[in-house]
Amino acid sequence: MKIIISEFMDEAAVDQLRARFDVTYDAGLVDRPDDLLAAVAHADALIVRNRTQVNQALLAGAPQLKAVGRLGVGLDNIDVAACEQRNIQVLPATGANALAVAEYVIVSAMLLLRGVFAASPDIARGEWPRARLSDGRETGGKVLGLIGFGGIGQLAASLARNLGMSVCAYDPAIKDDAAIWQETGVRPVSLDQLLEQADVVSLHIPLLDSTRGLFDAARIAKMKPGAVLVNTSRGGIVDEAALVSALQEGRLGGAALDVFEQEPPTGQHLAHLPNLILTPHVAGVTAESNQRVSQLIADRVSKCLSADAAATAR
Ligand code: NAD
Repeated sequence: MKIIISEFMDEAAVDQLRARFDVTYDAGLVDRPDDLLAAVAHADALIVRNRTQVNQALLAGAPQLKAVGRLGVGLDNIDVAACEQRNIQVLPATGANALAVAEYVIVSAMLLLRGVFAASPDIARGEWPRARLSDGRETGGKVLGLIGFGGIGQLAASLARNLGMSVCAYDPAIKDDAAIWQETGVRPVSLDQLLEQADVVSLHIPLLDSTRGLFDAARIAKMKPGAVLVNTSRGGIVDEAALVSALQEGRLGGAALDVFEQEPPTGQHLAHLPNLILTPHVAGVTAESNQRVSQLIADRVSKCLSADAAATAR
């Protein structure tokens, strides 16, 4: 059986698949759509990260496809409904990169609240900006507001509580009397209450029609003065231009963006803001999480293809 891997995957997990299947691993395929289409023509499984668009056109060119392994969790680059129609299993790496994202949230919140870490070049030049850097804020005692209280939100809450933060969350899918609130010590709140209370707001929701543009100028204006916004979820949820205005006007204390409306972002609208941290969609990618995610997807895809082969043989 044939497996195509179109974006980077941990080599040990690729080797494990090679031992049982005919594997084409080419992390550059994602940037060569014609080659990708040719490669999937005889594929039983396709393994992707978040850049390969598994859309109707690609699926039409892959008549034998039985599984799409996703080296991550967001499924917005995969036409899940079309896969369901064709009985193609969509296999995400649920949970395997959650710690990497949760740690990113805490680190960026601490950096932005404290606000002293961008001064290294000044100190190296012999400057001594003690007065300017003496009003950084502590993280302990601050309120973390989580939009979306799924796997990553819950892990971020646990790390934050260990630092002495108080945590509230908005997630309309979880009832106010659900056991999870007691178990985690997190307060369920409305979106408006969260924006009013949180010193750090962190987004952990999927990109859907209902969440696109959720953090527009009006929502950003409702955030507590000086609060920090962290977006590791998906671009398109935060209005980047509105965020930049809020930072330039000093209404927000800082922001960290790992995901963007366009990746990489075009234009210069995000440049030259000292309290804006930008990273290239790597919140979930560390050496350890890459191994965990790749191993989990290798196992899930193997299992799916083996079950399919066994069913065909019967
Ligand atoms: P999850 O499915 O476990 O949790 C998502 C939660 O969001 C669910 O509890 C759901 O009820 C809630 N939700 C949905 N719509 C909402 C809304 N409008 N308002 C409030 N809550 C809402 O997902 P997860 O594993 O926690 O991941 C969250 C998101 O993080 C993913 O969808 C993915 O896009 C993103 N992600 C990014 C990276 C990265 O590297 N930057 C890595 C992993 C995940």
